[in-house]
Amino acid sequence: MSESENSQGLWARRFALLGAAVAVTAGLLFALSDNPKYALGEMVRGSALDAGFRMVMGEVRGRLRPSVDRCIVKHQAESPTNIILIAVDTLRADHLGFQGYERNVSPNLDALARDSLTFRQAISAAPWTTPAFVGVFTGSHPGALGFEGDPLLLPSEVPVLAQVLCEAGWQTAGVVSHSYVGVRYGFDRGFDRWDERNAGGHTHISSENITAQSLEFIDSFTDDRRPFFLFAHYFDPHSDYLEHEEHRFSDGVSGSALSEADNINELIKLASAGKLDAASVQQIVDSYDSEIAHTDEQIGLLIAQLKERGLYKDSMIIFLGDHGEMLVERPENLLGHGMAVYQALVHVPLLIKLPGSERIGQMDTPVSTVDVLPTILDAIGHPAPPPSASGERSLLRVDRGSPRPVFAQTRRDGFRDTVLHGKWKLIRDTSINASELYDVTRDEDERDDLSRQFPDVVSHMESLLVDWHKELEASRSGIRATAPPQLTPAEREQLRGLGYVE
Ligand SMILES: [Zn+2]
Repeated sequence: MSESENSQGLWARRFALLGAAVAVTAGLLFALSDNPKYALGEMVRGSALDAGFRMVMGEVRGRLRPSVDRCIVKHQAESPTNIILIAVDTLRADHLGFQGYERNVSPNLDALARDSLTFRQAISAAPWTTPAFVGVFTGSHPGALGFEGDPLLLPSEVPVLAQVLCEAGWQTAGVVSHSYVGVRYGFDRGFDRWDERNAGGHTHISSENITAQSLEFIDSFTDDRRPFFLFAHYFDPHSDYLEHEEHRFSDGVSGSALSEADNINELIKLASAGKLDAASVQQIVDSYDSEIAHTDEQIGLLIAQLKERGLYKDSMIIFLGDHGEMLVERPENLLGHGMAVYQALVHVPLLIKLPGSERIGQMDTPVSTVDVLPTILDAIGHPAPPPSASGERSLLRVDRGSPRPVFAQTRRDGFRDTVLHGKWKLIRDTSINASELYDVTRDEDERDDLSRQFPDVVSHMESLLVDWHKELEASRSGIRATAPPQLTPAEREQLRGLGYVE
């Protein structure tokens, strides 16, 4: 072969490669541009291509997603601060050492708390995943955006944390382990790297993968002139409750009811029928703690690796739970989450480690996780978008002397709202117009309903709820979350496995 033939052959191959690259890139851009994923999903839904398409798209989204998707950098970052948001699904505050739990389940998080501001009375906006994360990512109460009993698509008009940070110059990546905080509901907006391949259902242990993928993303941030934002979502404490060999808390006595039920829905039915014996309930608690300890270990590995890479000290690290879990401790025999607004469900852990571990300490005043977004933006000196448009709501500026009321609600299995103000907590079941009142500083388990003794407090707290509802209504300004496209049979099956659809 002559040199020129060789050269022609080379160019022909280069053109062929270029053509293929253009075709692939065009396909990817089409597939990844604003929302055609659903349209494409519809096109191939039900076909043999579906599974392959989803696998490929999962891989693309996880590994190669370009920033042209939803992340458009508009400014140079004004702050060099890396921001790491670590969330654990279904994590009660009172099952952690730094919140006073007697079992040693969380040595790594306890160590993080020693470098952080600890918000000892943090309240989630809602007792289940999607609306709880809507609160964290938008700074708005989910009720203000039309979220009620079903998981809905985050309205595209509402700014979200990752998008704000991305536009402000941050490199962004998210690793999640549940579809309720995934692409299907719009939570990937603003992330230029995204991985939700670990949304594997109830019995899938994923914490190791979340830590590994988080580190992979951190190492992929090669533009060291720009800070990064990482969101890492862990899921293992969520049911099913599995005991981890290396973190055993049980005494080996098996509950008789557990052998009858092999998934959470059956356990919930047994619990509500009063058929879970004490040993079974204890076994659930022991396994739940084992899952927490396993997750804590994996978060410890992530933090150790941050330290090794020299990224711990000067990063802002936010740690939180999205909601808690009822563990059959109440007379109603509730198990699981979503259905109530008791402390077991809405009281979540919240730690904020500032760069250089400035401002270590504890805050007992009730605060809301909807204030996480304005807090992060306050810490980096960036203005918060409406409705949290000022630094007033920043948790770095909480006035202990005049606590603000904090709200949460659920629309699953009823209509329940709650407000915490100072030491008081009012729960209002709006479907039956009944209120309960507790002093949570003395009675965190909400055993002693004081509504009859303190009618004036009840009417004051009820008026706070009325005002809050007016505010929610006023702040909606026509924005309402809408349903995502219909589930495919495979997605329906996956959610059934998670216990979310019948
Ligand atoms: Zn959750």
